[in-house]
Amino acid sequence: MITLEPGRTSELSGRVRRIVAPNPSVMTGPGTNTYLLGREQVAVIDPGPDERAHIEAILAEGAGRIRWILVTHTHEDHSPAAAALARETGAELWGQVAPADELYQDQTFRPDVPFTDGAVLATPEFRLRAIHTPGHAVNHYCVLLEEEGMLMTGDHIMNGSTVVIIPPGGDMKDYLGSLEKLKAYPLQHLAPGHGELMPAPVAVIDGIVAHRLQREAKVVRALAATGGGTLEELVLTAYDDVPTALHMMAKYSLWAHLIKLVREGRAVDRAGRWAPC
Ligand SMILES: [Zn+2]
Repeated sequence: MITLEPGRTSELSGRVRRIVAPNPSVMTGPGTNTYLLGREQVAVIDPGPDERAHIEAILAEGAGRIRWILVTHTHEDHSPAAAALARETGAELWGQVAPADELYQDQTFRPDVPFTDGAVLATPEFRLRAIHTPGHAVNHYCVLLEEEGMLMTGDHIMNGSTVVIIPPGGDMKDYLGSLEKLKAYPLQHLAPGHGELMPAPVAVIDGIVAHRLQREAKVVRALAATGGGTLEELVLTAYDDVPTALHMMAKYSLWAHLIKLVREGRAVDRAGRWAPC
């Protein structure tokens, strides 16, 4: 059964509902997942793009009980509906402002309560804990529903696609560190910003880390084999298993891997030519 159609509402548990925003694309998969938590007092996580039909769907599902709106990060497919939704419900906005001068950021987002690592929103029905997870974006937070061990992962972990890490806001070293950090929490399910619920969180996290380190090893081999080069040159070797149509996006990941290698003293950046150490 397809449950990820745009506009579709699904009951994920007694406390959690999901509405899929009408913004499917290559980058957003089936569309952004908006989560509604609670029955008596409702928290909305990632209200999504500022599209009227989606806001109406959230308002209908919230039934006059929306008290909080939480935003995992301020990319344009996650936070822009927050302002209109807050205006129409009086709900309190939780999250972090967008970093300045970055692409695809919603600079209009202004939280009432700025997220800090470990911050808790406690209600009679549920407790939500904000966990700072930089990597995909510097202001990225995952949100843990403590009663169910359900982690709303935003774009830190997606189902069905690899998370894009675009420097300088995106940072591969931070990303891998943020994945490891999550394993300290008692997780039961991952509820991604895009795609279906995922069981077995630790196995998922370990799989992502292994995949990224495999690619990093291939980047290291490409540096050694070629003696170094530009992103355009190195992508041909380091991503020779990826169709050339995807090399544009792959170059961002390559760049992120190279920055990590430089930070670790394993590569050098000589004015856009990357070389092994
Ligand atoms: Zn994002």
